[in-house]
Amino acid sequence: MRQKVVAVAVLVGMLVAGAWLIGRPRTAPSVAAEPPAPKAEAAPPLKWDRPRFDVRADERRDMVRWQLERRDVSDKATLDAMRSVPRHEFVPKGLQGRAHDDNPLPIGHGQTISQPYIVGYMTQVLALKAGDKVLEIGTGSGYQAAVLAELTPNVYTIEIVKALGDEAKARLEKLGYKTVECKVADGYHGWPEKGPFDAIIVTCAAGSVPPPLLKQLKPGGRLCIPVGPPGMLQDLVLVTKDSKGEVRSRSLMGVAFVPLTREVR
Ligand code: SAH
Repeated sequence: MRQKVVAVAVLVGMLVAGAWLIGRPRTAPSVAAEPPAPKAEAAPPLKWDRPRFDVRADERRDMVRWQLERRDVSDKATLDAMRSVPRHEFVPKGLQGRAHDDNPLPIGHGQTISQPYIVGYMTQVLALKAGDKVLEIGTGSGYQAAVLAELTPNVYTIEIVKALGDEAKARLEKLGYKTVECKVADGYHGWPEKGPFDAIIVTCAAGSVPPPLLKQLKPGGRLCIPVGPPGMLQDLVLVTKDSKGEVRSRSLMGVAFVPLTREVR
């Protein structure tokens, strides 16, 4: 009798367990039952027109090797950009033979085209990705803008001296840097209609960071600007805005830039 009870209990137990086993969903819970999420497709690489020049390519190659790589510019895209843009086209005719010297050169109206190393260094600091929107204050010759245009198609540049701004715009168009947008204005105010920007580069020295520029910088953005008194050594400052909008700045090196002025001439 006792054996029978045990046997029945085992049988019932097996049936219950079987029911549970049989009744259990054969597939895992619904999460895994859903069709697999489509693979995140990598965005196709951005394409835009950038002109190419063979003239004086060897001078540019040497400039990059000895003045940039030998120092601390190592970002490949920046080095490629500096090898590509025909710097001699951005200096006055009589100075073309000296276009690749390790110093700034006069471009008229009391202004200068920056030393190649400074252009490369500031470009590297901006850490641009193709597609980023970048604003330059101080178009000057248009050279820095052309270097930026090698890295992203969204370049905006402002010049306060009308003659220089007009000349640079015509030069950039003639050379084929057609993606660069130029305007003549006081760059202190930035370009709010085109912002916010992933990066801002100021190529004239300001007493302090203009608040409108800081406002037009995206969270996660970088702003590179020489800060200090005109006619003296200034601090090249990198200002970053984090994803929460918090701003930090640090001094990178001593530099000498022409001053940021406030009146369109
Ligand atoms: N980036 C230039 C060199 C700039 S020299 C190049 O690659 O050639 C600095 C320039 O800033 C000068 O042309 C000067 O006229 C301009 N500048 C000075 N104050 C300015 C302002 N408030 N807004 C825009 N440009 C300004």
